[in-house]
Amino acid sequence: MVLPSRRTLVLNAAVAAAALGLDRSLAIAAPEHGRRTSDPSRGFVRTKVGDAECTALYDGIWEKAHDPGFFSNATVAETRQALASAGLPTAFVPIPITVFVIKLNGKVVMCDAGGGDQVQAFNPDSTFVSGRLMAGMRAAGIDPATIETILISHFHPDHIFGLLGKDTNAPVFPNAEIIVPGAEYKFWTDPATVGRLPPGRRSLARRIQAVIPHWKNVLPVDGEDEVVPGIRFVSVPGHTPGHTAFHVSSGSEQLMISNDAAYVPALCGRHPGWHGAFDQDGPLAETSRRKLLDRVIAEKMMICGTHFPWPGLGRIARDGSGYAVTVSTA
Ligand SMILES: [Zn+2]
Repeated sequence: MVLPSRRTLVLNAAVAAAALGLDRSLAIAAPEHGRRTSDPSRGFVRTKVGDAECTALYDGIWEKAHDPGFFSNATVAETRQALASAGLPTAFVPIPITVFVIKLNGKVVMCDAGGGDQVQAFNPDSTFVSGRLMAGMRAAGIDPATIETILISHFHPDHIFGLLGKDTNAPVFPNAEIIVPGAEYKFWTDPATVGRLPPGRRSLARRIQAVIPHWKNVLPVDGEDEVVPGIRFVSVPGHTPGHTAFHVSSGSEQLMISNDAAYVPALCGRHPGWHGAFDQDGPLAETSRRKLLDRVIAEKMMICGTHFPWPGLGRIARDGSGYAVTVSTA
């Protein structure tokens, strides 16, 4: 598919106002009291992948209370055991959020947008912190206005709410071209999707439908095209219908930005057969996960993921029946 030329965003003010009324509840951040982890002392870490400069930016963490419904085929005890084996806290499930900015071939590309301080924890025993992205970006010397392209992996709140102004739904990156997977766009913007989703997900679909289709700088792309020079979409469906990874290639080095394909690697990497409540289609997510991780190993790529331990970038190897991710230290 040939990308149309860049177009300036024109946000319909009436649509924005309507959206405001629709989903005000989603614009309320979770309180931070009770939080058990602290932000890293520095909110960014840089790595080179060939000539590409990859900057990991800390956006926050979901300290999720244990819940028997988290995995359909793993117990809370097994989940705690898997966290302990990886040296992680076991009192809750630590789900950090990292956003990656890639400078490659003269372009500045942001991969997903974090939660924008707008994601709810849904449970009084859980804490959801997000929206640290912008501070980390400035500390890293990246001016948000210089981001030309934003790639979106899927439309879950911890990946797209950072695009939307809190309380206003105004575009946070009005000059960037936002490239999204075609299948993901089609699913979430279909009016029939609202009624098909579980009740807890319906306000997300309504917020998306009230805003995203009216932004003129959103570009759905089908398949596995090279969406910017050196970065290609890779279809990894299951987590959501259009969930997509980003393959970065520079010289002889490659990086797979796996997004949510391996989710928290201590859980879904070590136990790729575990089916999470967060995966819309568990068996398909597992098939996609195994295929992607096997490719990363076979082609000796580096790997990173949104919910990998900070700073989220490292290597992966087979480990018995699963996979072991080793993340570079911050
Ligand atoms: Zn996620």
